[in-house]
This record gives sequence, C-alpha cells and structure tokens, in this order.
Amino acid sequence: MKCIIRDSKEHMHLPIINSAIEIINDGRQKKPNCIWLETSECFGTFISMMNGEDPSIIYFLQNMVNLTYYSSIMTAQGEEAYEQILKTISSEEELIFIVSGAIPLKEKCAIVAKYKGEEISALKAVKTIALKAKYIVAVGTCACYGGPTAARPNVSQAVDVSEALQDKKVIRVPGCPANPIWVLGTIGYIISFGRPVLDSQQRPVAFYASTIHDNCPRRQYFDNEIFATKFGDKECMFKLGCRGPITKTKCPLNRWNQSDNWPIGDNTTCIGCASKEFPDGMEPFVRY
Ligand code: SF4
Repeated sequence: MKCIIRDSKEHMHLPIINSAIEIINDGRQKKPNCIWLETSECFGTFISMMNGEDPSIIYFLQNMVNLTYYSSIMTAQGEEAYEQILKTISSEEELIFIVSGAIPLKEKCAIVAKYKGEEISALKAVKTIALKAKYIVAVGTCACYGGPTAARPNVSQAVDVSEALQDKKVIRVPGCPANPIWVLGTIGYIISFGRPVLDSQQRPVAFYASTIHDNCPRRQYFDNEIFATKFGDKECMFKLGCRGPITKTKCPLNRWNQSDNWPIGDNTTCIGCASKEFPDGMEPFVRY
C-alpha cells in the first residue's frame, strides 16, 4: 500500500507513516499482537478509525498488527471474546495495548466482560493487560486525560489510563475523537522504530508539536485583529471563543473525514477537544 499524497505541505506526517509502512511491507518487522480495549467512552474513536485513509483501517488490520481483541469489530462475544485477551497475554509475542476510554474507579461503573461468573471491571482489565504490554497507547481524550467521561461531577470517578496504571509509561494520542492519522501514525511508528519522541504530556511530537492557531488558515485575520462576530463569518473566531491558540493538534493540516474538512473549515470554533483541560476547562465553547 502507498499513501496518497494530496498535498505535501498538508501531509507532513507522511514520511513517518510511509517509512513505517515500507518496513512492514518489506517484512523487516514482525506484526506484533495488539489488544484494543474500549472502556468508558462514546466510541467516537472507533468511528474515527473507520474513516482512516493514510493508512486505512483495513491496512491496519491486515498488515500492521495481529489484532486479537477489539470489541467493536470482533465476531467473538462474551466469554469467548475475553478468552482472546487471556490467550494473548499468555503469549510471549510482543504486545501493543491500546485503550480508548477513561477508567471509572467507582465499582460497577464499567464492566468490560463477565468471565466464569466474575465481572471484569475496566480497571482490572487494563491493569491485567498492561502487565504484559510492551507499549501502552491511550487513544482519545477520555483515555488520555479523563475527558468527557471524567467531566464534573464525574459520578463514575473516572481517571485516565496513566493515572489508573501509575507506574507504567503510557503514550497519549488525545482528541475527541483522535484523528486516525495520529493514531495509525503512532502505531506505525512504534512497529517500525519503537517508542516515538514524546512531549512533556507523553504525546508524540510528530502530531502534537504545534497549536491549531499556528497553522490556521484564518491566522492572518487574527494577526490583523479582524474578528468574526457571528458563525459563518470568514474572519478569525477568537472572539467567538476559539480555543485554537491553546490546543495542540494538526487538525488544520490533517483535517477529518478522509482529510475533507475540519471544525474551523466548517465555521465552528475549536473547542479544545484534544486538551488536557477538555471539557470543563474549555467551557464556554462559544462566546458572544
Ligand atoms: S480561528 Fe481560532 S485557531 Fe484560527 S486564527 Fe482564529 S483563534 Fe486562531
């Protein structure tokens, strides 16, 4: 598979993904086992992944990993599905463990399986799988920072994956949802080269080094202090509450739905969904 390069400036991440794909295609790296556990979330990350293009979800499933568990798309159900987890963690093969969703600490708030009469909580599952994982990747803002699941009043006492695991290194790929380019790019990098270079919040710098504001096509309006007063205006939406200046992602360059569009391109403000403080600290999402 070759990635489609529509615009070299807009797809600056592609050298990383393309070299990862080359290494995988050449058979220089063995496909690692992979478990994708969905905990307490809205499954937006899953839908986002279905829209992956560079590479696609099909390429991910066929060429990048040996995905043994992903409840949204696997055919096995109930105990049979949970046995896939047990079988995978008893193997000596390298394991990449992906978690999407926050981890509720309150009892019975997130049961991910029932096995031999025991209800397996998200916390127990995450801790058990993490013990055998070489890499742990938190995907989406709930997994990375608690996100909407942990928003006030946080009745389920949800925490992020890193806090739930404490002594484990967790790579964070935030976004509500995370863009498939950032997710598959990070996994591709891990397979080919190992742990990516991370920033102080454990995010891959390849995808989280710049703010939305740095690359926003409306930036010139901001610099000239020309601001939109209502949605639909073409100027900078800073005074409508745009959080682009404090949100680090490559949304303006990667865009969404097969790189078709993105929130500011569709005349809505950035609400800071990939930020640690989202959603409580990013409110109000709109200001007049
Ligand atoms: S619309 Fe938002 S991200 Fe774009 S220039 Fe204005 S404040 Fe910055």
